[in-house]
Amino acid sequence: MAVSPLQEIHDERLSERGVRLWLKRDDLIDAHITGNKWRKLKYNLAAATESGHDTLLTFGGAYSNHIRAVAAAGHRFGFATVGVIRGEERLPLNPSLAYAADQGMRLTYLDRGTYRRKTDAQVVDTLKREWGDFYLIPEGGSNALAVRGCAELPHEIDLDFDLICCPSGTGGTLAGIAAGLAPGQRALGFSVLKGGEFLNEDVADLQIQAFGRPSGNWAVQTGFHFGGFAKKPPELTAFIGDFFDRHALILEWIYVAKMMYGIFALAESGAIEPGTRCVAVITGPPGPEQALDAPGRAGSPGELVGRR
Ligand SMILES: *Cc1c(COP(=O)(O)O)cnc(C)c1O
Repeated sequence: MAVSPLQEIHDERLSERGVRLWLKRDDLIDAHITGNKWRKLKYNLAAATESGHDTLLTFGGAYSNHIRAVAAAGHRFGFATVGVIRGEERLPLNPSLAYAADQGMRLTYLDRGTYRRKTDAQVVDTLKREWGDFYLIPEGGSNALAVRGCAELPHEIDLDFDLICCPSGTGGTLAGIAAGLAPGQRALGFSVLKGGEFLNEDVADLQIQAFGRPSGNWAVQTGFHFGGFAKKPPELTAFIGDFFDRHALILEWIYVAKMMYGIFALAESGAIEPGTRCVAVITGPPGPEQALDAPGRAGSPGELVGRR
């Protein structure tokens, strides 16, 4: 896969505050195995091959980006895939799951109670009886190998920067990026879940699993969840529309837009200090659902370029 490009954006709301911002366009890594999901899968796919597995099994919600990425990776690299989905089957499949099924992923469902216990040996054994032996990738794809994959991101950035920001769900991306920084650089993760304080512990744990110790150069920002996971109040919708008008880029709304809103707010308040050179990781493109109601409703990337 290609190295994702770095682009500076010019926005007077930042320049007035003396903040410079570059976008690390991981949304352009690949059309199917998107964004940070490719970085997290890369070494897991190698480990699955080395351990002789031909099937990948993973977990996720019905709109999970991770489920789609695993389905696409299996299709491309020759693994059978099983997606264990939280909740009941709903037909017809939504566009996310229809895509996964189309890539050859077999879908199975766990009620919410069992789903919560999905990593218990008992539940995993039941899945093994049903699906045969598999290489297990955790929900959201975050494990030590995923963290190692994400740690490569900063090395691709040929620029002196002070701060790198990413949205956080499970924290695997933040754990890796922070571990890959040079001395003096810092990472900031924006929790997209309410109660994101849990990330302080989870990110440290993931760094210990991957590298033996926490890196201490990162923090979690918990104030920009907008009501919780996959909540989109009008304020966020307006921000996405305005950002599109200014920069011709549709921000993926579940993760990326919340981080971006947070960066602008922290620059405005001075919490991101004047003089800061900041990189924002665009961790993924809009999902198939968002394409249906995106601002500008651009049908093709070509249409996007012309506007503004
Ligand atoms: C999955 C995902 C994330 C969350 O990454 P974590 O490593 O779980 O914190 C962020 N952005 C996008 C676009 C994602 O799909």
